[in-house]
Amino acid sequence: MLMYDTWEEQEHDFPFPSDSETKGAMEVLQWAYDYYGDELVYACSFGIEGSVLVDLISKVKPDARVVFLDTGLHFKETYEVIEKAKVKYPSLNIEMKQPALSVAEQAGEHGDELWKRNPNLCCQIRKVIPLEETLSGASAWLSGLRREQSETRRNTQYVNKDNRFKSIKICPLIHWTYKDIWRYAHKHSLPYNTLHDQGYPSIGCQPCTLPADWASGDARSGRWSGQGKTECGLHQ
Ligand code: SF4
Repeated sequence: MLMYDTWEEQEHDFPFPSDSETKGAMEVLQWAYDYYGDELVYACSFGIEGSVLVDLISKVKPDARVVFLDTGLHFKETYEVIEKAKVKYPSLNIEMKQPALSVAEQAGEHGDELWKRNPNLCCQIRKVIPLEETLSGASAWLSGLRREQSETRRNTQYVNKDNRFKSIKICPLIHWTYKDIWRYAHKHSLPYNTLHDQGYPSIGCQPCTLPADWASGDARSGRWSGQGKTECGLHQ
């Protein structure tokens, strides 16, 4: 398994973006699929970054494995965009990965609306463990993180040691701005989650996602709003 100990090592393999449209993303994806092949999986949330990354991936590896962590609590608009992606990219392997407990079973074991009382446990059951299971059969995973998204993502590199999942996390979009993402999506007429048109820049499960508070300057301010939580546990 490839490891980078310093940014200088990465910089050697990935000099600052030479491709003006994709800001290095295509070079990183090409390297990643050459290196990991079928052992590379994309955990996609099917927000706008997901729409863009799925499109880029389809140009590099048309039969790539794309996994959606289907908590059973997503917006109908999210499921709609997944169906559109399946039509647009028929050769991609888009999997719906469900947790061991259905929403009703979780309520039976932990009480109704666990996300209100213990969102960390809810995310652990419905997102973190399913991703662990997904990555147990992979050497590395792709994520659409961008540095601009939040303070906690500011230091994300193209290739990251992922101690949480004992894996390698590859993030081709780190240099993209929100405008870059939308410019690409419109130029290539990509299907996208229509909640973005209703003030949701970041979209997760329905019970834990509100439109963003744009005045805060934080595109992720609508996620777990008022609960003191900013990440689901997949990215630390
Ligand atoms: Fe549960 Fe909310 Fe996490 Fe979804 S985002 S798994 S509903 S706590």
